Amino acid sequence: APEQAREIEVVVIGGGQAGLATGFYLRRGGLVPGRDFVVVDAADRPGGAWPRTWDGLRLFSPAGFSSLPGWMMPPWDDATRGYPPRDHVVSYLTRYEERFELQVARPHRVESVRRADEDPIGRLLVEAPGCSWSARAVVSATGTWDRPFWPTYPGIATFRGRQLHAADYHSPEDFTGQRVVVVGGGNSAAQILAEVSTAAETRWVTNRPPRFLQDDVDGRVLFATARARIEALAQGREHDGVAGLGDIVMVASVKAARDRGVLHALPMFARLTEGAVAWADGTSWECDAVIWCTGFRPALSHLRPLRLTRHGRIAVGGPSGTQALEEPRLHLVGYGDWTGPASATLAGVGPSARATASLILGIRSS
Ligand code: FAD
Repeated sequence: APEQAREIEVVVIGGGQAGLATGFYLRRGGLVPGRDFVVVDAADRPGGAWPRTWDGLRLFSPAGFSSLPGWMMPPWDDATRGYPPRDHVVSYLTRYEERFELQVARPHRVESVRRADEDPIGRLLVEAPGCSWSARAVVSATGTWDRPFWPTYPGIATFRGRQLHAADYHSPEDFTGQRVVVVGGGNSAAQILAEVSTAAETRWVTNRPPRFLQDDVDGRVLFATARARIEALAQGREHDGVAGLGDIVMVASVKAARDRGVLHALPMFARLTEGAVAWADGTSWECDAVIWCTGFRPALSHLRPLRLTRHGRIAVGGPSGTQALEEPRLHLVGYGDWTGPASATLAGVGPSARATASLILGIRSS
């Protein structure tokens, strides 16, 4: 209830990499974690989305290029080990929040953020079951993992086999000996196809022909292009970026899949039947499972009472590029290029987090 809400300067909603990076800069700017600001997270363990990703996930860049502000990701990669696996990231994020004593409050799922009263420079009320905060500023850093995107295709409800989203995929052993369709043209699809095809017979379908980066190029080029593209846009120039965050990085498992001859994308099927996927030309393929690697959308449902969301996003801008244009006490960090170039990546979120914290600290001291 509002009368029990704890007064605090800033609430950061989400303790994944975006929330932690923001917490790092708030603390560096002089706010005391737990007293002046709180990072609230719905999960019962550290690491944001990372512990929930599939077992075999590999970063698409070296550890040295996957760091949050203030402390480098410890080395993992050498000639034999490849890029860091999921658990290396989880352990890094766990130690990161300990190292900077960010005191993440969990598990608390924020259900709503609302204006505490009519005062336009008054406080925002942040409510989770059993606790609530009244804050001068709110940073939403809830990521996208809670909102997997499923496209609709005719027959989706008719198909009798298994359908799952990449968010619910764990390991290839679940599909041993089966016939599996992997849908999607990005890195998730390519990595999942690469490992499922070691245990199952697979078909890969994509809307557009997938774009593969050269073997000797990795995720670093994606960050560089994302930044160059945003800078060009800001200066009113065109940018013919050759690489986007959706381009496929040839990590070891994907190269191995190519060598086995399974990395061939077919056009998207037109519909599902009871036991198969079927293309417009009349061909079909019987299968046991369809894995939808079709992306994610920003998890913004807790912000609904503010009535700012249009087409799944909230208009942001201001000096940080993350401030809600129609609600200056609200800041959005880490969701994607629309909240900062490459801000949905470990290496890319730092600048957005820093600009957001400076803006909040500036408002506080003025
Ligand atoms: P998350 O990690 O999702 O953290 C959000 C946190 O908010 C979660 O802990 C969640 O529990 C919490 N939360 C959500 N809603 C609420 C609520 N209402 N109240 C309280 N808490 C809430 N990036 C790279 O840099 N390199 C890579 O190689 C790479 N590979 C990727 C591979 C895949 C398959 C995916 C999906 C992403 C990859 N990324 C990679 C991108 C990026 O690093 C992740 O998407 C990252 O998890 C985004 O961080 P985040 O902090 O914004 O969100």
